[in-house]
Amino acid sequence: MPETISNHARLGAVSIEYLVRLKYVVGQSTTWSRGTEYQAIRGKILDVCQECWSKLFNEAALFRRIYQGKTLSEADILHLRTLLRTTSGTFIALHELLLFLPRESIRRELRDYCECLFRPEFKTTKISLMLTSLFAAFEYSLDEVMRFLEADVFKSKVPKRQVLPFGNVLELAIVDRSNPLAWAVLAHEFGHYLDHTSDITKRAVDQFVKKRLRGKVPESFITAWKRLCSEIVADLTGYYLLGPCSILPLVNMSLLVGCLRDLPIEYDREHGAPTTRVLMIRKLCEHDGIDAGRINPLLDTLIEEETRKAGELPQKEQQNRTTIEDFLTDFFDAVRPGILRELKARKFRQFTARDYKNAESLAQNLANGLPVGSCRSHSDDEVREKLLTPRGDDWTWARKEYHLLTEHAVGVGEVISAGWIDRIDLTADLFLRAFSEPDQEKAFSYIAKRLEEHDDLILKSIDMIPILEAQNAP
Ligand SMILES: [Zn+2]
Repeated sequence: MPETISNHARLGAVSIEYLVRLKYVVGQSTTWSRGTEYQAIRGKILDVCQECWSKLFNEAALFRRIYQGKTLSEADILHLRTLLRTTSGTFIALHELLLFLPRESIRRELRDYCECLFRPEFKTTKISLMLTSLFAAFEYSLDEVMRFLEADVFKSKVPKRQVLPFGNVLELAIVDRSNPLAWAVLAHEFGHYLDHTSDITKRAVDQFVKKRLRGKVPESFITAWKRLCSEIVADLTGYYLLGPCSILPLVNMSLLVGCLRDLPIEYDREHGAPTTRVLMIRKLCEHDGIDAGRINPLLDTLIEEETRKAGELPQKEQQNRTTIEDFLTDFFDAVRPGILRELKARKFRQFTARDYKNAESLAQNLANGLPVGSCRSHSDDEVREKLLTPRGDDWTWARKEYHLLTEHAVGVGEVISAGWIDRIDLTADLFLRAFSEPDQEKAFSYIAKRLEEHDDLILKSIDMIPILEAQNAP
């Protein structure tokens, strides 16, 4: 097995995983298979996925070479890119079709995940968690929606926000319902919730204007900076609560969308280009002493893909990209300290360099098939030393020392980070074995089963956390 795999191998893994997950989710759902009115749409989704998967499996020999780390010819690369373009396009179109099927509920573990990661500011009476047929994650304030509607539709029927607040909504793509690693994106969306409910952006931009510019600034500039700043608040919240893995769902989504594009993904007047956002996360890691080397293979793939595409742009557009990136990183440096101060003033559990180190060793346990939601409070050596050293023939004393085996809950951020590290590590093995299966059905089941097992291990780990916390609560 090659130690490192190529960007092509990573790109293939991302697109194929999404397609396999979608077909598996739709195929497995009993609710969707019952009502005859849904059969046609469900059947169509499964057929199109199948067709796409057949095309991919026809090229099993090419994929085996990719996951063995062999060098590809220009023609191979072109062929691979065409295949992945079809795969990504098919996935995105089909995911939207899920709109026509009954809405899926969220998993209980997702609520536990949010409660553990976002406390003490996560209240189910204020935030609704939902699944969306769009392939995206987002947050919005229902009160703002209602206020907007009040103008022409519900005039006088909408209660005032102060009297009856509607709360906020966090939405996650349906395909990620049972994929806890993808839930990392909600840490960013939760940042938008905090911002919506406490105006962090407004204070940060006011400070920026006061400190940097002093003079009069046109209102349009301030509005543009606020849009930018709110994304920085969200990214910083994600990083503060979950560490560098908070950016990985965005990286995966950008790699998937990137398969459909010849041009790099640009700054969209709100979000910086994904490459700029990765740069910001790397800056934060450097500052906090987090060596995120184990997740670099995924980050580097995105940077290299986007840089290659940017290199093909006309000189002037390349210059524009650099100017925007310089402005954004400069703006990020200016607003960051104030935003982090606000996050620190709240009672969140901050993700630290030590948590990342722990996650690296937990990843080893995951690789050995063990859930990682709990840890012994005493080291194995200490327990062995105290429990297994004879004290004469009478062993009844040992019972009094059983407390040495007590376990405590691991932080949910460490569990998710361990999951990401292990998933990045196992990619080559997963796909090489799948494309070595004798037929397409077996290959498909191999990927789906192995992903499901990995998801289950992490879901089980999340499941343990609130139980152990309640057990050990004073
Ligand atoms: Zn956002």
